Amino acid sequence: MTRIPVEADWDSAPGVLEGARELELTPGQCDLPYWLEHVAGSMLRRLSDGTVTAAPPTEAVLRPGPLREALVDEFAFRTLAEDKATRALSFLVFHAPDRECLEFYTTQLVDEARHARAFRDHLLVAGMSDREADAAVARTAATSGAAVLDPLEEFGLAVLRDRQDFYGGVLVLTVLVEGILAPAAELSERKWKVLDPSAALVERGANMDEIRHLAVGSAIVRQYLMDRPEARSGLLDLVREGRRLWDELPMQDVLYRRESLFQEGLAEHGHLLGDHEIWPGRRLVDTGIEERMAAAERWSRETQDARLKYMLLDEAS
Ligand code: FE
Ligand code: FE
Repeated sequence: MTRIPVEADWDSAPGVLEGARELELTPGQCDLPYWLEHVAGSMLRRLSDGTVTAAPPTEAVLRPGPLREALVDEFAFRTLAEDKATRALSFLVFHAPDRECLEFYTTQLVDEARHARAFRDHLLVAGMSDREADAAVARTAATSGAAVLDPLEEFGLAVLRDRQDFYGGVLVLTVLVEGILAPAAELSERKWKVLDPSAALVERGANMDEIRHLAVGSAIVRQYLMDRPEARSGLLDLVREGRRLWDELPMQDVLYRRESLFQEGLAEHGHLLGDHEIWPGRRLVDTGIEERMAAAERWSRETQDARLKYMLLDEAS
């Protein structure tokens, strides 16, 4: 068997912050044979055959209380976001300008559908019935989903479905969706690591995929702008328009509520965390709501800026 590429290797894949900013991958490298061999045949195989596993949720998460509510809130939201991403990707497959992009976005579409399933499955692992999991997702859809995800989806669909703009769609997905959500997912992986190792593993697996999506998406836009510099101002406008939209969306409120629940959970169960660090030199148990939100915000800004620069769109940052 050929060597496993680093980004698909559970033991050596970079974290989101590093990988999402620096890794270089092209759609030609990440084609269908690549995905079948290294993602389905290696990364996912190691999950299903039990070579890569994690301990189940601790009692702190299984028992009713704010910590459990924080987990359910987050995983229901992610289920919904991944579901919407899957559907939007069907337009990128449809409008793919060449075989490489067609194959890559077909794999990304399957990745996002897998993520939607993995986040929902975790609600079952955390002890919910199918009916309860669906109810939690429906509740989220009516509240934070309607407030944040629906407008974001409309914005993406205006580009993809209405304007049929493939490269604009890649840009929106890469910078305004994955570039913002991936750093938040990295924070989540670190938050749940001890209290719910199986939740952290779900995040880790999804994050490994997101790094690939970010790297390839930005390589596609970069190549396009090298070939067609005249398209640059239109894409810059799109980034500015998307960032204006983000500024209006109540994402900070959604995160504040979630981190507040997590904070209450820390007060109750923080002793379980020992010296577990959220980042080097900072114990999770000592962190506060605003501090974690500020870190996610900074990581997301830095990730977007690094990717925009790579895409030759750094004036937008
Ligand atoms: Fe995803
Ligand atoms: Fe993704």
